[in-house]
Amino acid sequence: TINESQPLDTVRTVCSYCGVGCNLEVSVQDNKIISIQAPKDAEVNAGHTCLKGRYAWRFYNHPDRLTSPLVRINGELTPVSWQYAYDYLANKMLAIKAEHGADALAGISSARCTNEENYLLQKMMRVVLGTNNIDCCARVCHSPTAYGMQQSFGTGAATNSIEDLKQTEFILLIGANPTAAHPVTGAKIKQKAMKGTPLIVIDPVKTELARFANWHIQLRPGTNVAVLNMMAYYIISEKVFDTSFVENRTEEFDAYKAAILALDMDELASIADVDKHMVKEAAIAYAKANNAMSFHGLGVTEHSQGSRAIMCIADLVMLTGNIGRKGVGMNPLRGQNNVQGAADMGCQPHQGAGYLDVTQAENIEYYQSHYQISDKANWPVNIGYKIPEMFNAALAGELKALWIMGEDVVQTDPNQKHVVASLSNLELLVVQEIFLSETAKMADVVLPGSSFLEKDGTFTNGERRVQKVNAAVPPKAGCKTDGQIVVDMMNALGYAQADYSADTMLEEISQVVPFFAGITWQNLGDNGLQWPVAKDGTDTKILHADSFTRGLGKFHFYEFEESQEVLSHGEAFPFILTTSRNLEHYNAGTMTRRTANERIVSEDVLLINPEDAKQKAIEDRSKVRLFSARGEIELTAEVSDKVNKGILFTTFHFPELMINRVTGDITDKHTKCPEYKVVSVGIEPVI
Ligand code: SF4
Repeated sequence: TINESQPLDTVRTVCSYCGVGCNLEVSVQDNKIISIQAPKDAEVNAGHTCLKGRYAWRFYNHPDRLTSPLVRINGELTPVSWQYAYDYLANKMLAIKAEHGADALAGISSARCTNEENYLLQKMMRVVLGTNNIDCCARVCHSPTAYGMQQSFGTGAATNSIEDLKQTEFILLIGANPTAAHPVTGAKIKQKAMKGTPLIVIDPVKTELARFANWHIQLRPGTNVAVLNMMAYYIISEKVFDTSFVENRTEEFDAYKAAILALDMDELASIADVDKHMVKEAAIAYAKANNAMSFHGLGVTEHSQGSRAIMCIADLVMLTGNIGRKGVGMNPLRGQNNVQGAADMGCQPHQGAGYLDVTQAENIEYYQSHYQISDKANWPVNIGYKIPEMFNAALAGELKALWIMGEDVVQTDPNQKHVVASLSNLELLVVQEIFLSETAKMADVVLPGSSFLEKDGTFTNGERRVQKVNAAVPPKAGCKTDGQIVVDMMNALGYAQADYSADTMLEEISQVVPFFAGITWQNLGDNGLQWPVAKDGTDTKILHADSFTRGLGKFHFYEFEESQEVLSHGEAFPFILTTSRNLEHYNAGTMTRRTANERIVSEDVLLINPEDAKQKAIEDRSKVRLFSARGEIELTAEVSDKVNKGILFTTFHFPELMINRVTGDITDKHTKCPEYKVVSVGIEPVI
């Protein structure tokens, strides 16, 4: 309740849900949040938010919040003092390092946390403990985007800004449902489409935007590479590609062209279950548009050919010259608020802060000199474990300790049985969390962290915009900011790290990360800066304007390959399950389900095509059993023509459902991003 005799303070900060990065204006009284509005002068969201950003914030002081460090004593998680927890951890971690080496320890950072906190966690793993075993949830979402775009262009980030939608004359949307998952950007795309901007939607589900699309290419899940190659075929064979751009700005075109023109369109159309005439018409329209923007989401990346599909999109962008100016470009819709930042800060096992290859001698020297390392022999020189490799190594007994900051891997990583078995095999599992998540329940030590409303720092949104996060209220009693927890731990491990402060951490980051060179806490202002930021503070709205980061853009040809998931299990499990988010909830629902959004949507439902439902005797709103080679779950079916025959769809926000009991182990060939989007399953009514 508001005390009307006292003034309200307002604090400007950034939403901690999706990668749009909306600015929020938080009204505070007596250290309590009263409401959240959206500032009208915000460049990102101009006074708009979605249902999550504006209303789903009451989780911050929910009674379920952890309020004390917990250490497992006699099998029970027992409240202890911070000092006890740090001493316990330092002893354990140093003993594991002494006995098994630094690579027996690993860390997983969090896209929920600030750049500064992510930077600190990778620093603790690399500089203090001496291992490159650090990864983040980008592994399980957009690591193929970063890898694929790096191969094609040299930089693995959005080439343009969302505001470029004002200039664009054509939109290509692939594997994304932004009106649910990135609602403020989704609304902008919808408005453009409603006003007549041509829109292609490539998606196995009839999403809201598919209804507004001129062409909805409703492909079979897992066949993006087939459809993107078909588009390239028609653009090249109909000679509607941008010859001048291809000649002047790219390489490897001739080999690419020859491979594309050798493809059989009837065969690919049959593989993807699409109408080749529709693909041809859409491809030609896209190529002929003056300015076309492409957007993609996890429906592209979370596949065994995820990175390859990214390079196929980059091929189309280069073929049509849609890069390097306003109103065009290749724009990944980053799923989480700071997943871009977590990767930028070096929470990856192969690249340190600023994406420098951790195995290159000059980069090793660069990091050693910045961190003033005297004991150079103990500096890690090998690529560390990616998240799926951490689980395998834990199961094999090679990884002994895992530090997880703000990530519920038990619920969100695929093949839950395997994840649980792996975590159970660790000597030490440490979890920094705000609630006792399914992962935290398994931990040996739980450290109560803070929500975004209780901390300062920066988040980097999906358009490379680094924005200030300002604490609206202090950390809940008994909790600390996640950055301070890591700092305390670094000190407990014998490294002198100054207390967490956003501006001094940012100063250190700007000295290490080349594209942060000109960023200071002061010059970020209210609307942030888009990296790379030059030393004089000039930021960059458009990448690759005159040349690509790698010099010339590079064409890559990849043939369609059927997923091993379908090849190995398809006969026994004839349906393909694919998943996505809804508007009301966010990922595992840890935050949104502790708000009133729970009352709007309170379960995940499974969409099934009417013909399949009839054949399986499944009635609308009846319970069904969904099973795969890994496990089974029960959920409510909804008979819907939003999915084609043979395809099932659900969201993944409800822990009791545990959708990851059925998902599998197949990963992207280049990045090990899990193939969440193609799961071979069977289904039957629950009688
Ligand atoms: Fe938050 Fe994304 Fe919604 Fe904006 S669109 S309010 S960033 S969840």
